Amino acid sequence: MEIFKHIAPLKAFLQSKKQQGNSIGLVPTMGALHNGHLSLIKASKLQNDVTVCSIFVNPTQFNNAGDLNNYPRTLDKDIAALEKVECDVIFSPEVSEIYPQPASIKFDFGQLDKVMEGKFRPGHFSGVALVVSKFFNIVEPDHAYFGQKDWQQFAIIRQMVDELKFNLVLHSEPTSRESDGLAMSSRNLRLSAEQRAHATVFHQALLTARQELIKGTAIETVKNKVKEIVEKKPEVKLEYIEVADSKNLNLLENVTASDQPILCIAGYVGEIRLIDNMFIH
Ligand code: AMP
Repeated sequence: MEIFKHIAPLKAFLQSKKQQGNSIGLVPTMGALHNGHLSLIKASKLQNDVTVCSIFVNPTQFNNAGDLNNYPRTLDKDIAALEKVECDVIFSPEVSEIYPQPASIKFDFGQLDKVMEGKFRPGHFSGVALVVSKFFNIVEPDHAYFGQKDWQQFAIIRQMVDELKFNLVLHSEPTSRESDGLAMSSRNLRLSAEQRAHATVFHQALLTARQELIKGTAIETVKNKVKEIVEKKPEVKLEYIEVADSKNLNLLENVTASDQPILCIAGYVGEIRLIDNMFIH
């Protein structure tokens, strides 16, 4: 496994691999890797000759300095985990390599970044789009892999790839979960044992909501029920529960208004903010 901290040697290495006819898969991450991230590496390895995992805690996508400072950083463990799944290349640059000068470009994705995560984390998706476009330009992958767990992020990157004509194929991989249903997340590392036990309520609420929506219960009624289920747990606070069209992220008042509706939830357990989602069909 090759580990690069700088852009120039990484590009030279990948260039020679491409000249030998090898395809390149990219998995962008912020590290503190868990099995969800590793499932993306495995998906890339099935379809590409060379898999690159980037590990970079991107400051421009944090709208909360405390969250950025407290974000878990476990590079040595990450390297060991990537070695085990036979990832080919790690790119783990310093902030100064990716942002030699302060960022000036801002992205606006219209409706896609005005709802849900975009509404509650202003500027977040502009930072995500900026760093992902930098990584696409640095690595020039044939394929790039993202998790369904961050569905809104995937919808936005898909729009960016389409509009900016990035020459690559995007893939969305299923959410990996713990045995009790909690979506794997690097932020789960920050939960106390008690908080960890309560955190599973987001997944339970999604399952209940999905069942109710399939039965024909009105969205507003379902949202109220979700709030009740979630906030029964100590330390848990609901930020939003929405039903959206999974393509354009228009918020729905009626599930039949979309052929692929998705339920998206976000909330806090103590100070830790968690998200999850589930397709209805
Ligand atoms: P992050 O390190 O949180 O920025 O995530 C890096 C990539 O891993 C993103 O494409 C995420 O959507 C994906 N990811 C995060 N958690 C999971 C999970 N539980 N299952 C599958 N993919 C995930």
